[in-house]
Amino acid sequence: MKIILIGPPGAGKGTQAEKLATHWKTPRITTGDLFRQAVQNKTPMGLQVQGFLEKGALVPDDVVLGLMQERMSGPDCKSGFILDGFPRTVGQAIGLETWLKKTEMVLDAVVVIDVPEEEAVRRITGRRQCGACGSTYHLQFQPPRQDGICDKCKSLLVQRKDDEEKTVRHRLKVYAGETLPLIDFYKQRHLLRQVDGVQKPAEVFQTICSLIK
Ligand code: ADP
Ligand code: AMP
Repeated sequence: MKIILIGPPGAGKGTQAEKLATHWKTPRITTGDLFRQAVQNKTPMGLQVQGFLEKGALVPDDVVLGLMQERMSGPDCKSGFILDGFPRTVGQAIGLETWLKKTEMVLDAVVVIDVPEEEAVRRITGRRQCGACGSTYHLQFQPPRQDGICDKCKSLLVQRKDDEEKTVRHRLKVYAGETLPLIDFYKQRHLLRQVDGVQKPAEVFQTICSLIK
């Protein structure tokens, strides 16, 4: 399966990407995680993108496309992938389309997970992430068994800096301005599937599976 997940911050893309990747035994490629890793490791790209991440702004298209072409050229992506957080601009979508044509790969579907703005803010401000393995929790909707501790690896949970409310509001504006135009872009290519994200994670997952066969 070659799938793109689109949705505002907090829609549940990461949550669904994890489930879909397990279900289809296919790699999940999350641009946000790749950038955060680069920042943490202080690589040249990390130093270049750090300011964009902190402000909740988009990383320039040429940097994103360079990173993704390298990642998607990996042998694990030959039979499929789930793209979580990419593309986010029409420029990135055109870059991806050109690259897919060149490599003779064909997308199966682009899934848009819709949630209203206030729900997205509630989800993002309550999100906590494991500092070690990256597993995601929510203070109310998906709490860990032990407060502040990852169920899977027992490391401490932290709040992402860009998950504070002011930055989240800005990220939602960026989504509306830069990413929403992708809906028409993929509608024109008959790839778009829309899913109501205001359901339990398992229900969203079932809906996505029923739309992609
Ligand atoms: P995204 O990757 O789109 O930014 P996440 O998958 O990280 O979103 O989810 C954001 C937050 O909302 C996380 O804390 C997650 O636990 C929670 N969450 C995800 N899906 C749902 C859902 N269907 N209902 C309630 N909370 C959810
Ligand atoms: P996310 O983890 O998806 O919320 O992304 C976190 C941050 O990484 C974003 O606010 C951007 O700064 C950057 N980022 C992730 N994916 C992209 C992308 N496709 N294009 C530009 N910036 C991105």
